[in-house]
Amino acid sequence: MSVRDVASFVAGEWIAPDTGARNIESAITGAVIARAGQASLDAQAMLTHARDIGGPALRAMTFHDRARMLKALAQHLDANKQALYDLSFDTGATQKDHLIDVDGGIGTMFVFASKGRRELPDSTVYADGAVEQLSRRGTFMGQHICTSLPGVAVHINAFNFPVWGMLEKLAPTLLAGVPAIVKPATATCYVTEAAVRLMLDSGLLPTGALQLVCGGLGDMLDHLTCQDVVSFTGSAATALKLRQTPAIVQNSVRFVAEQDSLNASILGPDAQPGSEEFALFLKEVTREMTTKAGQKCTAIRRILVPETQVQAVIAGLSEALAKITIGDPRADSTRMGALVSAAQKRDVLERAALIATEATRVFGDPDTFTVEGANKDKGAFVPPMLFHCADPDSATHVHDTEAFGPVSTVMGYRDAAHAAALANRGQGSLVASLITADAQIAREITLAIAAYHGRVYINNATSMKESTGHGSPLPHMVHGGPGRAGGGEELGGIRAVKHYMQRTAIQGSPEILSAITGTWIPGGREITGPAHPFTRRFGELAIGETLHTAPRVVSSEDVEKFAHFTGDTFYAHMDDAAAARNPFFPGRVAHGYLLLSFAAGLFVQPDEGPVLANTGLDSLRFMKPVVPGDSIKVRLSVKAKTPRNEEYGEVRWHVTLTNQDGDLVAEYELLTMNAF
Ligand code: NAP
Repeated sequence: MSVRDVASFVAGEWIAPDTGARNIESAITGAVIARAGQASLDAQAMLTHARDIGGPALRAMTFHDRARMLKALAQHLDANKQALYDLSFDTGATQKDHLIDVDGGIGTMFVFASKGRRELPDSTVYADGAVEQLSRRGTFMGQHICTSLPGVAVHINAFNFPVWGMLEKLAPTLLAGVPAIVKPATATCYVTEAAVRLMLDSGLLPTGALQLVCGGLGDMLDHLTCQDVVSFTGSAATALKLRQTPAIVQNSVRFVAEQDSLNASILGPDAQPGSEEFALFLKEVTREMTTKAGQKCTAIRRILVPETQVQAVIAGLSEALAKITIGDPRADSTRMGALVSAAQKRDVLERAALIATEATRVFGDPDTFTVEGANKDKGAFVPPMLFHCADPDSATHVHDTEAFGPVSTVMGYRDAAHAAALANRGQGSLVASLITADAQIAREITLAIAAYHGRVYINNATSMKESTGHGSPLPHMVHGGPGRAGGGEELGGIRAVKHYMQRTAIQGSPEILSAITGTWIPGGREITGPAHPFTRRFGELAIGETLHTAPRVVSSEDVEKFAHFTGDTFYAHMDDAAAARNPFFPGRVAHGYLLLSFAAGLFVQPDEGPVLANTGLDSLRFMKPVVPGDSIKVRLSVKAKTPRNEEYGEVRWHVTLTNQDGDLVAEYELLTMNAF
């Protein structure tokens, strides 16, 4: 079989491995299948290419342009994913594992594409949070904004997810308008290279937006500045080394680390053998131990169960693990493939031996196990290994040794507080799970462990059918964890995009802030349009375009009629004396909903036109009661516009209702869909 040359993509050119190349073995046969690495890598040229060409091209696009690009990239990868599956078997992964890596990565990109269109503006600046009132009369205000870093994101990834590991970082980076240099782990870089080729060949990416280093990074980290980001996934030892790079320390380069973690799963004290929760617990643990042959940063390493259930759990897990067929990952019957390499196998066995100094192995013997359809001695196969630690309070290795394979330890706990204390002995982890049907136990344990864990996953019979799994980081939810887990944070929806942007507090007048953010702020400049705003198409409406309506008197007959028509005969609208006893009202007052309806009556333009629908109303506040005889008028201003598709976009209107004295009566944001 020929040895595959895995190239790097450097400043617009594919560069073959040279004298600096390292050999890469098949996880199944141990044979050398590829080589990667360049002694001559020009790291500075890559950084310059990204900063000077990729960055400006991405920053010229709006969030929506970039989101559309992500969607097209994800579609292209999805259409060509078979090639990635075919290559991935040699990493030891089964077809089911590919679904997590390849399909999971593509799915993550789709989610960011969709969130980018729905939750970010069609602009290059993101207004982060609400406007802050910094002055009494509202002439000086504050607003946080996020803008793209003009630097480059260097992504250093672990070997276990060559596709997901790249895409989960790449999607938010590109959405933020920042170019990326991806450095996959050498052991599986041939799969990443294939995925990068697909993306580059699609022609969807601007030049310089994506580069690839297969092999060593050279001196790249020495050239980073305060506008660059390193996002690292891998072992704690490598993270510790890299984050101490002098240029990273001196320039305060953002360094996000996702490290290894001693994740725990807790069986609730209420989950007795025979219950649905008990069976669910065994299923989740078995799956987490054996998926990707346990090479998952989120895998369950510590199994915490009530002391009275230790033997039942060991028996149940042993029975389930005995059914796991180990073998050639290409075979349909195989449930668990191989570790990534012989070196990884040595590492896992060494660490399992360390755990064995404090715990008894109760399932899985690395010297006597069966491998189907592959040579057990040549491939990097190991059996699932289950340990039991009888004294978890005195033990240390079981809480801090990550055997990055199918290795896990059962420990008994006395009560909920003890379970939480043991879970926290991991000194910071990516995820802890809790299987319980008891909401009070869930609350007690969650509050006791949340500070030590990036994610807490609670499951029971009610949620199990639709639950997403202990080990699956979701693009919507934060992935990362404190302490041992690296102290980093990835994913979590739009939060992930902000990791590649600078948040800046800007202060100034409403008009200045509006001009910067592209969002109208009360007190900002009002524009009088050439016609009623409801007759104006989406593209014609200007931010700040404002309509002032005529006033309308609210009579007691109006209040009476509205009350009986709607059935809302609440005493404050009907009974003057009762209303006056209420601390909020001087006497009988108009319904808030009546005022909203009158407001619509004042500002709508009735004819068929570009306003297609009223789709909602946000941030409604009633500030001052309106009593019969008062009059109200409306100011309606275009606050923001967000295109939705080719035909229409959403207009967010800022609406205020004032009375005859100019006092604010109500304020809200109205949403309409307007034709282009
Ligand atoms: P690793 O040995 O720490 O390597 C991680 C990455 O760092 C690889 O790309 C590696 O490249 C690179 N690297 C190593 N030394 C470097 C240096 N001096 N300069 C620049 N880059 C360097 O980890 P791994 O064995 O690939 O992955 C397994 C570990 O990752 C496990 O501990 C696991 O828990 C952790 N992990 C964590 C997460 C998470 O999200 N928290 C996810 C997956 C895995 P080479 O391969 O070329 O050496």
